[in-house]
Amino acid sequence: MNIVMLGAPGSGKGTQGKQLAQHLGVPHVSTGDLLRQLAAQDTPLAREVAGIMQRGELVSDQLLAQVLRSRLESREFSSGFVLDGTPRDIEQAHIIERIVPVHAAVFIEVPDEKVAERLTARWICPADSKEYNALFAPPKREGVCDLCGTALSQRADDTHDGVQKRLSIYHEKTQPVLRYYSLKGKLVHVNGDQPIEAVFSELLEKVQAIQPETQTVA
Ligand code: AMP
Repeated sequence: MNIVMLGAPGSGKGTQGKQLAQHLGVPHVSTGDLLRQLAAQDTPLAREVAGIMQRGELVSDQLLAQVLRSRLESREFSSGFVLDGTPRDIEQAHIIERIVPVHAAVFIEVPDEKVAERLTARWICPADSKEYNALFAPPKREGVCDLCGTALSQRADDTHDGVQKRLSIYHEKTQPVLRYYSLKGKLVHVNGDQPIEAVFSELLEKVQAIQPETQTVA
């Protein structure tokens, strides 16, 4: 089953998408992570991508299509996937459909004030990428990763200005995508303003209702 995750930045798409992928036994892929890996290289393209991401803007559709195609067409994805971070607009929805079909689009809805609060409280371990949140999932020792003891850092775009910019792009460009999938009968609408486990059980129940033959692992 090919699934895309939709929702504002900070709505929990990453957390829920990873859990869903694990449950279904398919890979989870985040275009934000793929682009961050690209931006960490030492090339002119990498520096350009890093600047775009730091300002909270979107990379070009051409670059996105290239990055997506290289992943979604690989054998690893042939039995399905959970894609997080794309599509962010209607054109990107078409880009995906030109590569692979989408069976369900999971929309996690959370009010803007809540996501802004969550994002500016988000901390990440630069060594193992484990995420923490000062509001609801703090590390045992402030500012330090529980797993490896490395000092935690914040994403360059999780600042007040970065978050406002990303939210305004989300409302202008990504929200029309909800209607696109809704008209195709593929939209799964989930209330993201509840505890993580409650969001996941609502999500799973609704995804399974769309495709009753969904296979689970263990
Ligand atoms: P995310 O981790 O999904 O919040 O993405 C972080 C940043 O990566 C975004 O603010 C964009 O700069 C870039 N990015 C991720 N996915 C896309 C996409 N589908 N289209 C354009 N830019 C993207």
